[in-house]
Amino acid sequence: MTDDRWCCNGNAESCRLCTDPNPPYPWICPGHDDTPENRAALVAPPVVSLQNRRAHVHNAITEGLSKAGDWVPLSVRVAATRAALAEVDAWHAAGDQP
Ligand SMILES: [Zn+2]
Ligand SMILES: [Zn+2]
Repeated sequence: MTDDRWCCNGNAESCRLCTDPNPPYPWICPGHDDTPENRAALVAPPVVSLQNRRAHVHNAITEGLSKAGDWVPLSVRVAATRAALAEVDAWHAAGDQP
């Protein structure tokens, strides 16, 4: 942990505190207040919630596309995230296990 910043202040999509799928342009983590709650959120094991489930899928899609070499607009990645989650939800609703 560095002295000048305590949050990542890097790519918002890599920041555990930035769970908004539409982080502020240009998607740089805005930094977060150094509060006990935020510190706890950074060191705590990930909480399984609908919000961070979406963030994990969004990050995986972003990482996969970036490895493939093409820049894909955020709106398209958000749409891909929605489609992937809808598919998984439908699969679970049909009674299959993860
Ligand atoms: Zn951050
Ligand atoms: Zn952040």
